[in-house]
Amino acid sequence: MDIQCTEKELFVFNKIAHTAQEMQLPCYIIGGFVRDKLIGRPTKDADIVCVGDGIELAHAVAKRFKPYPKVSYFKTFGTAQIRIDDWEIEFVGARKESYGYHSRNPTVQPGTLEDDQLRRDFTINALAISLNKEDFGKLLDPFNGIPDLAKKVIKTPLDPSSTFSDDPLRMMRAIRFASQLSFTIDETTFNAIRLNIERIRIISQERITEEINKILLSPKPSVGLKLLYTSGLMHIIFPKLTDLAGAEYVDGQGHKDNFYHTLQVVDNIAQNTDDLWLRWAALLHDIGKPATKKFEQGHGWTFHNHEVIGARMVPKIFTHFRLPLTEKMRFVKKLVEMHLRPISLTKENITDSAIRRLLFDAGEDIESLMTLCRADITSKNKMKVKRYLENFDFVEQRLKEVEESDRIRNWQPPISGELIMKIFGLKPGKQVGLLKNAIREAILDGEIANNYDDAYDLLMKKAEEMDLKPVSPIG
Ligand code: ATP
Repeated sequence: MDIQCTEKELFVFNKIAHTAQEMQLPCYIIGGFVRDKLIGRPTKDADIVCVGDGIELAHAVAKRFKPYPKVSYFKTFGTAQIRIDDWEIEFVGARKESYGYHSRNPTVQPGTLEDDQLRRDFTINALAISLNKEDFGKLLDPFNGIPDLAKKVIKTPLDPSSTFSDDPLRMMRAIRFASQLSFTIDETTFNAIRLNIERIRIISQERITEEINKILLSPKPSVGLKLLYTSGLMHIIFPKLTDLAGAEYVDGQGHKDNFYHTLQVVDNIAQNTDDLWLRWAALLHDIGKPATKKFEQGHGWTFHNHEVIGARMVPKIFTHFRLPLTEKMRFVKKLVEMHLRPISLTKENITDSAIRRLLFDAGEDIESLMTLCRADITSKNKMKVKRYLENFDFVEQRLKEVEESDRIRNWQPPISGELIMKIFGLKPGKQVGLLKNAIREAILDGEIANNYDDAYDLLMKKAEEMDLKPVSPIG
């Protein structure tokens, strides 16, 4: 395996090497940067470890650049970062670590490079490259990380059970790397995860969520999600999702396993979008199924209203996972709630008004909704998949036609609530809502044209029925 650095990387590493040499500090590139270079994955940040004071080294290196980059440092952790353009370089002094039972934060003391490599989580993350004069560029691989990279295996350098018990976040990291890199987890290492799942409870929700997000953003998220499930971690960190697993049978009739269906939907959507929130929508689209599952004689298994119940669960799930309770949450909720709507429009003789309604309700999220619906097709029957996809092509064609003629998307009815209040001297309340709704519904149903005059005439008619008289001559 060969390491190919860019000119800029070499330029920066040379400066670091010269500075460290002047300070007589043995110095190395370590961790993710080396791993990613070896497998030809785009690298992000670089970690530099020196045998000595990493913060001092960072300051000395920064002085060699113009303009002088800011050094951000954390004295308690002994780490420092400088940013060269958009490239972040982190410096740390080599250390030895020891762990207590109740925290993943170890007590540290200065150590050698070997000590520092020993504290790394996986053999593939413990690789170092020397920046020292006598062996500049030499790969230092004490735990056979290079063969593990070639075999695509994730394995801990030390006893896996202590590695995971010391810092249980490493269990999530192992699974996340397996998902991001399409690696497998070494059997002994995986068994140690199984044994230590309960230890995950000492990890903060934010860190767990960060790893779940990385799994969701990986090329084939089902790899990580399945490992979370089979290890038993998922039962602790996301029991609502494991509730989807399994197929029940009554009178010989079963339903599909909604957990594996969901994983397939997430994989499908991952092929069409890198948007984390759309991937979350795929993960949660059927989350309401366990709560709504029923066996009805003559009908078989039903999940009536699961989209509504599922949507209602979204804010709680976002709160639990410390995900943003912003428009991201509203987006996921809306998609979960609407995920069956386009299917109902695949039948023959769908009216323009049904199409207008979908455009109006989905608004700017219509494309995302259609992407979710397409991903939701998981039949193994290729002919069926083809037919369902063609049905959605047809719906999309109709959406396009109706949008071109009616401009419903991002549309606001031509008479606003404020204007209605002004015309009739009303305060905000039920009557304003009724009048506003009447106009919107009539336009969506195609009963009146989408313009001010028609809307005004209808408003006057409805107002008369409600015994309301205009107080202002507007209109
Ligand atoms: P990514 O940037 O994708 O998260 P990375 O491997 O660069 O991947 P970082 O979190 O930046 O991950 O960590 C850098 C290095 O620090 C890792 O390669 C690993 O050697 C070490 N490391 C990080 N977290 C841990 C941990 N929890 N336990 C042991 N070593 C760790």
